[in-house]
Amino acid sequence: MTGRLAEPLATTLGKRAAGPLAKMGLETVDDLLRHYPRRYGDPGRLTDMDRLQLGEHVTVMARVARATVRPMRSRGGALLQAVVTDGRHELGLTFFAKRAGALRPHEDKLRPGRSGLFTGVVSEYRGTRQLTHPDYILVGVDADDDEEAMVEASRPIPLYPATAAVPTWRIQRAVRTVLDPLTEDDVDDPVPDEVRARLGLPTRLDALRAVHVPDAAEHWQRGRRRLRFEEAFVLQAALAQRRARTAAEEATARPPRPAGLLDDFDAALPFALTDGQRRVGEQVAAELSEARPMQRLLQGEVGSGKTVVALRAMLQVVDAGGQAALLAPTEVLAAQHARTLRGMLGPLAEGGLLGGAAHGTRVALLTGSLGAGARKEALLQAASGEAGIVVGTHALLGDQVQFADLGLVVVDEQHRFGVEQRDALRAKGRVAPHLLVMTATPIPRTVAMTVFGDLETSTLTELPAGRAGITSHVVPAANPRWNERVWEKVREEVDAGRRAYVVCPRIHPDDDVDVPGSTGRGAQGSAEFDDVPEFLELADGEGSDRAPLRAVLEVADMLRSMPRLAGVEIGVLHGQLLPADKDAAMARFAAGEAPVLVSTTVIEVGVDVPEATVMVVFDADRFGISQLHQLRGRIGRGGHPGLCLLVSTAQPGTPAAARVEALAATTDGFELATLDLELRSEGDVLGAAQSGRSSSLRLLRVVKDADLIAEARAEATQVVEADPALGDHATLRDAIAAQLDAEQEEFLERA
Ligand code: ADP
Ligand code: MG
Repeated sequence: MTGRLAEPLATTLGKRAAGPLAKMGLETVDDLLRHYPRRYGDPGRLTDMDRLQLGEHVTVMARVARATVRPMRSRGGALLQAVVTDGRHELGLTFFAKRAGALRPHEDKLRPGRSGLFTGVVSEYRGTRQLTHPDYILVGVDADDDEEAMVEASRPIPLYPATAAVPTWRIQRAVRTVLDPLTEDDVDDPVPDEVRARLGLPTRLDALRAVHVPDAAEHWQRGRRRLRFEEAFVLQAALAQRRARTAAEEATARPPRPAGLLDDFDAALPFALTDGQRRVGEQVAAELSEARPMQRLLQGEVGSGKTVVALRAMLQVVDAGGQAALLAPTEVLAAQHARTLRGMLGPLAEGGLLGGAAHGTRVALLTGSLGAGARKEALLQAASGEAGIVVGTHALLGDQVQFADLGLVVVDEQHRFGVEQRDALRAKGRVAPHLLVMTATPIPRTVAMTVFGDLETSTLTELPAGRAGITSHVVPAANPRWNERVWEKVREEVDAGRRAYVVCPRIHPDDDVDVPGSTGRGAQGSAEFDDVPEFLELADGEGSDRAPLRAVLEVADMLRSMPRLAGVEIGVLHGQLLPADKDAAMARFAAGEAPVLVSTTVIEVGVDVPEATVMVVFDADRFGISQLHQLRGRIGRGGHPGLCLLVSTAQPGTPAAARVEALAATTDGFELATLDLELRSEGDVLGAAQSGRSSSLRLLRVVKDADLIAEARAEATQVVEADPALGDHATLRDAIAAQLDAEQEEFLERA
């Protein structure tokens, strides 16, 4: 971006007007023009002057009765007070300024006897109705006659995201000041002319005029659609370039080796693969056999068996002489994966040990909380290649972590990792490693295109046979009989040899939970995500005078003293425990020694204990839909039906109650994900899915603008295919670079 758009606002508007805008992050003309109206006021109807409601945005037709400028003794500065009338009623107009001179233009225009239209929000001062800093159009000044004044005044009024220091009308004026003099030559367009022509889109300047100075609702709608397309187009062009770049990269082919670890593993597998697992497995096996990096996203409902697919891919790579890294979002999950892998591999995971299989390998675990000795050992195994499989958390991304020959990176439960982290791991291979990303949150197609647009997608649609399913019920917290029944049910299941999770939103009863993430970040303060509940913002009226949220330690004590649970050992698990204690708690639960586990959301992602059949979630109304769905996916994983009891304090009819009820009504993750996306703002969706990106999308809605995104993707792919380096599309190239910078910045800020 060059020329007038790059100009600092201080130059165009003057330092005084630009200062407060800079505080809103608006530094250049371009920034200001991208500060789009949040919505539009409807000026169409004139308001009768005897019906002016306080706080209402009104437009009245009236005549100026008088106008005077005077200094303000108390505050300094000057004040213009005018009175307008329709012949029967009066309305005050008030303008403030630091200097009387600044009011002169208004004073010149607001001459007694002139009539026009006045627009603003009604307030009251000393018993008189007034408009402060109204917009106005005067007949004979801004418009030739009543009719023209009406046309001007019937423009939808852009209402901007504003602050107390910079009200929307001031932003509107600043926008007009910078926008009005611009010509087509000033405004470069990242959307190439031929694309614009083909789709019948307005120019960028037309679109900016339409959203900032619309003639009518259809006008700004058309402009906004075009700007949305632009955002989608730039993003998709960036993704297309990224895809093209990785496709051109070289990778080491890792074809299957007969009679290797993978064959042994398959032979020992206690169940048959589902059709989906077999189909995706073949796809992955074929891609690993090629000399260019696989870039695959594996989506699958909770419990669909993604881990086995990943494990088989890792073993193929190990058989071919490479190493695989498995990146998990929490320590609990990393430890579980390591345990599962070692368990499933048996003697195959004891390569080099006495009694291990001859062609076996080792599984190393690397997390932030390892002791120095264990850490050194794990690093050594990774660097020497002794460990064919290295499982870990973010600790795997560290500079000290080296691999002998990294052939495959698997990222589990992707929604917690960003592109940057994926890249950090990929950079550890001598050549680009293959990449498999797994996510349990079903992602609508266009979200996948937006967030994971550089990956090919496979989906596991069915659950392994023999799953008895999960039933969910909402339990009103205030109903004692229902609550009795909850613990009765837990007792029954425990007596039948099964396990129960009890989930609470916080650890200590005195934790301040209204700050998300305040419930602890792991014992070592590691940057992992254990125990950070995704609390939803409460809507107005929700949450006032509600009981405090339930806490793990308090609930565990309560259960221990409950006669109905006498003799049942109650375990606790949360992020403030030492890693060894976490492991021990998980192990005792899995083994049935402590068959009731009271925990935070640390068990949310991926934890697998097939005997767990009941889950009680306290304060279920405070969790997000996806999070509850993930939590619920921890039960009913074996042959016995799961029962999820959602204890809720939400008032019937509130959005919180609706969330919990929706969850109880279906186990279809796709349906829930779509609902969840509809309930969240777009920024949340993108923010939660991936770092960065949210900053560059202002208007685009990844769910609602599905068609637009698909269209933009098709067009962008064509443009990039024809001109991979975008040598002939300088504006698009710059727009992509600016977007990457913004994402990078956001990523660094978060890190
Ligand atoms: P997710 O897709 O949620 O990560 P997991 O990979 O953890 O699911 O698998 C869930 C459970 O299902 C595990 O206990 C796993 O061993 C089991 N499982 C996986 N595939 C099959 C299958 N084909 N038949 C039976 N059980 C399976
Ligand atoms: Mg999993």
